[in-house]
Amino acid sequence: MKKVVKFGGSSLASAEQFEKVGNIIRADESRVYVVPSAPGKRDSSDTKVTDLLYKIYGLIKADKPYIKVLEQIKLRYAQIIRGLGLKVSLSKEFEEIRKKLEKGAGEMYVISRGEYLNGKIMAAYLGYDFVDAANVIRFNDDETLDAEETYKLMRTHLDAHERAVIPGFYGSKKNGEVVTFSRGGSDITGSLVARAVKADIYENWTDVSGFMVADPRIVKGAQVIHTITYSELRELAYMGASVMHEDAIFPVSQVGIPINIRNTNDPSAEGTMIVERTSRISKYTITGIAGMKGFVSLSLEKDKMNTAIGFCRKALTAFEESGISVEHMPSGIDTMSVIVRQKDFAEKEQQVISRIEELCQPDHMEIESDLALIAVVGRGMRSTRGTAGRLFSALAHSHINIKMIDQGSSELNIIIGVASVDFDEAIKAIYSVFVDANL
Ligand code: ASP
Repeated sequence: MKKVVKFGGSSLASAEQFEKVGNIIRADESRVYVVPSAPGKRDSSDTKVTDLLYKIYGLIKADKPYIKVLEQIKLRYAQIIRGLGLKVSLSKEFEEIRKKLEKGAGEMYVISRGEYLNGKIMAAYLGYDFVDAANVIRFNDDETLDAEETYKLMRTHLDAHERAVIPGFYGSKKNGEVVTFSRGGSDITGSLVARAVKADIYENWTDVSGFMVADPRIVKGAQVIHTITYSELRELAYMGASVMHEDAIFPVSQVGIPINIRNTNDPSAEGTMIVERTSRISKYTITGIAGMKGFVSLSLEKDKMNTAIGFCRKALTAFEESGISVEHMPSGIDTMSVIVRQKDFAEKEQQVISRIEELCQPDHMEIESDLALIAVVGRGMRSTRGTAGRLFSALAHSHINIKMIDQGSSELNIIIGVASVDFDEAIKAIYSVFVDANL
């Protein structure tokens, strides 16, 4: 059994958090490759080390002194080292960073140092080898990931280390220049390592006990999802639910390595298992609910639209020409609606409207803004009768008007559109009928 374990910033924010992480790793021999983030916030008023590094870069660009912020970062690491009773010193590393800053280091190099330094401490604390991510994660010249080369480099380098710490978030181009992923990218590093070393499982340790059935800010005490498939996760993530970086899913899902989301502050909780497929029937008909506000629907009406060949295509052309991605397209016999993101549509609306007039000559056109879309997702819906019925009656009981319905052909999700003002109530009503009442 071989596990790759990634720890997020809040799991490594202080010496106390490092100790929890140390206990977790030592409790299981198979946790052989460790991917740390940079130290995160210790409390809500604190600043993440990565954000301090961004600040340094900003100050340098503005020709302002940055030494105070660098001292603040040094202090954060010194406190962790002291708190853990370690003998390591990072003065050599800090000296090198300072020199590079003076020579005009690039932004990605600067912001990657949080993970680099934390990796050094983590390796010393665990007694694991340190493998610099710059040597094993390869980016192309255009800063996209060269996955094949990365796997190759990882296999050669990591084979030589039975147990190693590989800092998250960054890698390098062939010429050695450091490149980072987007924010939260240590999740991707963990996923790439897991795939390269053919891990049995990729554990992603964070500060929540897994992926919740609904956003806990809306549904207080929302339950944790025990097992979710990659496709379900994708549907929910697309609708705004997030526990990890979206790009971290593909490297492991393609080869069927499960991801286990765990809580560093509650290691006995099983967390959420994300798997390719499962025979585990979910506890409820639905697996999760997620949604987003900020959509617009543009509805078109034209007599005999059903026989007007090419009508839909022409309408969609107007959106395509303006570079607007279409989210949904519910249609009736003589009507069709196009649902798009408000922020994409707002600045180009007049252009789209006049193009539709020109191409489609509709009898009537109506725009409705401030819509919210809610995805109700679950592999269990395919085999359960009456899911849609229960969903709609729950919303009716809560006096919520449904503006749009779209059931994906895979029967994995039902998407409904409601007014933004009804968003929270709608999610609560759906949660309550499927989870609280367990119907
Ligand atoms: N430290 C980086 C960030 O704050 C990357 C990560 O934590 O995954 O975004």
